Amino acid sequence: RAKSNGRGHCQLFDPALASEISERLEFENDVRDALERGELELFYQPQMEVDSDRLVGLEALLRWQHPDKGMISPAVFVPILEELGLIDLVGEWVLRTACQQHRVWRNHGLRPPRIAVNVSGRQFLRPGFAETVERILSEELAAATAVELEITETVLAHDTDVCIATLRRLKRLGLEIALDDFGTGYSSMSYLKRFPIDTLKIDRAFVAECDSNAEDAAICIAILSLARGLGLKTLAEGVETPGQLAFLRQEGCQFYQGFIFSRPMPVQEVERFLAEDERVLR
Ligand code: C2E
Ligand code: MG
Ligand code: MG
Ligand code: MG
Repeated sequence: RAKSNGRGHCQLFDPALASEISERLEFENDVRDALERGELELFYQPQMEVDSDRLVGLEALLRWQHPDKGMISPAVFVPILEELGLIDLVGEWVLRTACQQHRVWRNHGLRPPRIAVNVSGRQFLRPGFAETVERILSEELAAATAVELEITETVLAHDTDVCIATLRRLKRLGLEIALDDFGTGYSSMSYLKRFPIDTLKIDRAFVAECDSNAEDAAICIAILSLARGLGLKTLAEGVETPGQLAFLRQEGCQFYQGFIFSRPMPVQEVERFLAEDERVLR
């Protein structure tokens, strides 16, 4: 005890804290630089209709090609952006970039499907979010049908009134809303009745073993039945095998995305894919 009281009893300078702060400042500068230097990029993963195997959407997924650290996963840096209050900045960039990309593809004579944009909880709950979306759509000359927003169910547990108001505004603009990672949050199911939502996205965690594990199968079936009863669309994420897809088809899941069809692709690859798709459909 005497020892620990010694040098440390009046700690004005905590080296651990200081290094944490400087790391954070460095990270914040990195993010701002990344936006300016174009190190952030959107990849797109096709979303397909189960029965027809037709392309119905493209999910925009953030990628950060860091000059020193290489490719950083959004699962790592999105939570840090949220914590540092930088998610609004990046979130707006994501939505704007998706809208611009949609327009570029249209200008190239392609017919891109709707782009699904992930929205973080912090971003969604900030007052004025719906207005920001409206402004970006109008600045980028994008129709509301060009994008879909993905939010997670935990968001809905937060501030019910704010959520409902925001969702209503977004719906009035004509946007579709998907509940991402459905089944992994803790919120009550009664919100499904009250919130104007279009699609449930069944989390990859349940899809991974839906055709081999009885519990996961039961959860998927329950979600599909719930969605049917409530008139919601369903999309399974992370489909990797024919067995999983067969199970989902049999149980009436309408849409899917996953490595079985395609990994998230960079812009050029999506463009080739869209051109090919047009040729096939004609
Ligand atoms: P998410 O929205 O649930 O996205 C699905 C994740 O599953 C993506 O990971 C995707 O690459 C991955 N995935 C798709 N199909 C398969 C598959 O068949 N097998 C496996 N193992 N994985 C598959 P990713 O791109 O690393 O993104 C991770 C999470 O980061 C996203 O989960 C989302 O929560 C967040 N995120 C990504 N982009 C954005 C963004 O622009 N804004 C916000 N707020 N969050 C984002
Ligand atoms: Mg998503
Ligand atoms: Mg998801
Ligand atoms: Mg997920």
